[in-house]
Amino acid sequence: MKRKSEVPANGSGIKERTIVVTGAGGFIGGALVRYFHHKGAAKIRAVDKKPLPEWQQRVPGVESLCLDVSIEGNCIRACEGATEVYNLAADMGGMGFIEKFRIECLRSILINTHTIEAACRAGAERYFFSSSACAYNVELQKDPGSRALKESDAYPAMAERGYGWEKLISEMFCQEYWAERGLKTFIARFHNVYGPHGTWDGGREKAPAAIARKVIEAEYTGAGEIEVWGDGTQTRSFMFIDDCVRGIDMIMHCDQLVATPINLGSHELISINDLVSMVEEIAQVKLQRRYDLTAPRGVAGRNSDNTMIKSIMGWEPSTPLVEGMRKTYEWIEEQYRLRQAGTKTEFPAATPDLGPLTNLEPVQARPMVMAPES
Ligand code: NAD
Repeated sequence: MKRKSEVPANGSGIKERTIVVTGAGGFIGGALVRYFHHKGAAKIRAVDKKPLPEWQQRVPGVESLCLDVSIEGNCIRACEGATEVYNLAADMGGMGFIEKFRIECLRSILINTHTIEAACRAGAERYFFSSSACAYNVELQKDPGSRALKESDAYPAMAERGYGWEKLISEMFCQEYWAERGLKTFIARFHNVYGPHGTWDGGREKAPAAIARKVIEAEYTGAGEIEVWGDGTQTRSFMFIDDCVRGIDMIMHCDQLVATPINLGSHELISINDLVSMVEEIAQVKLQRRYDLTAPRGVAGRNSDNTMIKSIMGWEPSTPLVEGMRKTYEWIEEQYRLRQAGTKTEFPAATPDLGPLTNLEPVQARPMVMAPES
C-alpha cells in the first residue's frame, strides 16, 4: 500500500493534512475537531452517526457527515483522501452504561475493525485509537489504594467485561496493522475524561458530570441531599478535556509510540466522597449523602501511572481537578438553568464559533522523536 507523504513528526504541515475524526458528535471527538480547527487545520472531516442537530459541538466550516462507521461502506466514505484518522467513535458511557450494556460496548469492535481497514486502504499515514483504562486487568484494581496502572498491566489480560475487552482487542488490531501493513497506529488509554460539553445527564454521563448535576439539582430544588453510587470510597483520576486533546495530538505525532499503548490520564487520585466534597465547595452547599450500595461502582481504585508519558513527552495531563471541575460545574449549571427556562441546550443545532478550548498555550517540552527504522 502506497502511503501519503510523511507527516513531519513534530505535527507541522497542518494545513495540508486531511484530518478525519469519527465520534465527532460526541464529547472528545467534538473537542478534538475544535482543537484542530483552532490550530489551523484546513481540511477536517467530522463524522458521527448522530443526526447533525444532536452533535454536542459543531465547528462552522468543518465538513460534518452523519455516518454509522460500524458499516464498512460508510468507513470507506469517511476515510476518503485521509492523511490522519482519529477514531473516537464508540457506544459508551459511564459505569451505569458500560455495566448494563455490554453487548453495545462489544459491538464497537465493528467500528474500529472497519475504520482502520478503510484508513489503511485510503493510504492514511496515521491512525489513532481511543482506548481506555478499562482495558487494564481488574484484579489489580481491587483496593481504593491500588497502585497506579502502568502500560504493561494490561497483560495478563482480565479487562473490564464488555467495554474493556473491546478496547483490548481493538488495540491488537492497531498493533497488527502496523506490523503487517505498515500503517502507523497510535493508541492512548484514556483515564476518565471530563469537562464542558460532556454528557451530563441521560444515563451515559460519568462521575464528575453526574455529581455536578446532582449537586445543582439539589441546590435548585432545595432537596438538600445527594445520592452517591457505592460507598464513595472508590478512587479514580480524572483528566480535563483540554489535556486530553493536546495529549492525543502529541501521541499521534510521536513516532516512538507507533503501535504502543500509552496512558493518557491525570495522576491526581481522588475518592468519590472527596469529589462530592469538592463540588459542594464549588457550589457553596453542604448536602446529606445517601449511598446506593446496589448501584454500579466499577473497580475499587484506579489511577494512571504517568512514568512513560513523562519520559517520552516531558509532559503529562496536569490541569488541577478543582480548576477543571469549576469550569465543568459552571457549564453544567448554565445548561441546567437554560433547560429549566425551556431552552433546549445540550444539543445546539450548530454551535457558534466556540473559540479555543480553555487552556491551549503551546506545550514547551516536545522533543522530536525519530521514526523507527523500517
Ligand atoms: P461520547 O459518547 O461522547 O462520543 C462517542 C461518539 O461516538 C458519540 O457521539 C456517538 O454517537 C458516536 N458513535 C457511536 N457509535 C458510532 C457509530 N457506529 N458510527 C459513528 N459514530 C458513532 O464519548 P467520548 O467520551 O467522547 O469518548 C470518545 C472515545 O474515547 C471513545 O472511544 C471512548 O471509549 C473513549 N474513552 C472515553 C473516556 C471518557 O472518560 N470520556 C474514557 C476512556 C475512553
